[in-house]
Amino acid sequence: MKRLSEIFPLLEEPKNIVITFHQKPDGDAMGAGVGLYNFLIQFGHKVTVISPTNWAGFLSWMPGAKKVVDFEMQKEKALKALKGADWLFCLDFNVLNRTKNMEPVIKDLKCIKILIDHHEQPQTEVFDYGESNTDKSSTAEMVFDFIINSGHAKMINKDIAECLYAGVMTDTGSFRFNSTSADVHTMVATLKGTGFDHSQVHENLFDNFLESRFRFFGNVLLNRMEIFYEYNTALIAIPQSDLIKFNVKTGDTEGLVNFPLSIKGIKLAAIIIDRGDERKSSFRSKGGFDVNSFARKYFNGGGHFNAAGGKNSEPLEEVIKKFKKAIKENKEQLNS
Ligand code: 5GP
Ligand code: MN
Repeated sequence: MKRLSEIFPLLEEPKNIVITFHQKPDGDAMGAGVGLYNFLIQFGHKVTVISPTNWAGFLSWMPGAKKVVDFEMQKEKALKALKGADWLFCLDFNVLNRTKNMEPVIKDLKCIKILIDHHEQPQTEVFDYGESNTDKSSTAEMVFDFIINSGHAKMINKDIAECLYAGVMTDTGSFRFNSTSADVHTMVATLKGTGFDHSQVHENLFDNFLESRFRFFGNVLLNRMEIFYEYNTALIAIPQSDLIKFNVKTGDTEGLVNFPLSIKGIKLAAIIIDRGDERKSSFRSKGGFDVNSFARKYFNGGGHFNAAGGKNSEPLEEVIKKFKKAIKENKEQLNS
């Protein structure tokens, strides 16, 4: 993988560009994706953003989000853009299986593939250019650096600012996590210079849920949360029947895994959701427990040191058993 700076001189030549990110994009994936879109269209490129799957309704306010193509719902349009692409930007993921059904298509593409990502252990051999930096708070911050380092700071407008702010704010837990460096605050100061309204961004992301989400949370915290004090661990396991009963939509489960992490003494919080086609898990830890390695070893996943995820094809009960066995095997690390 060659350095990202090597593509800077090529930015001004007109191109067909596709931007993609991981399935079920979060605020960072979508924010970085449409933030980059709003930058690249200023050069006159033809830019298409493709999401491997649908996304949460609370991300659709972002400038450019309405034009994002859903690979599962608009396959023909997505395939046409992918096949005609000169460049493919891959944001906020570093292993192709994070693009779900797009994986075989991306593998076959002969175009130039560019990685911008901050997760552990990248599959660098599949990308031509890129940057992978686990010290970065968010992919949104890396897109900001890309714009600045390529010498186009003046092109940062309100649209870009809203998207990148949403990304960095989401991935830093509203500027709480350790990854919130001085550079992050400097970036936000620069974004604020465009005059965008940051309170409105918070409102768009956090104050737009339906009542059903909170009824669902009530049920989960009362009936689906199990605490294993012996292992300083909490597990939430959600059967598909709950998703149906409470009319849970994509994005409604976001943030749920953080609740048990705020219980005194809990070092590892996990959530396993039976989505029907797969059992999707999320892991969060405090301090020295490495959930990236944990997710890789037991749940076909990965991510960051303190936030990771995975997926399994086995039934929910089997995945729960696997989890209980895994925490037993990690008892020492969970108690240190
Ligand atoms: P979340 O739990 O919010 O879905 O994800 C937490 C972190 O782990 C994110 O940075 C996300 O990109 C990463 N992650 C989530 N699921 C997977 C997965 O199945 N595989 C890998 N490699 N990373 C994941
Ligand atoms: Mn991210």
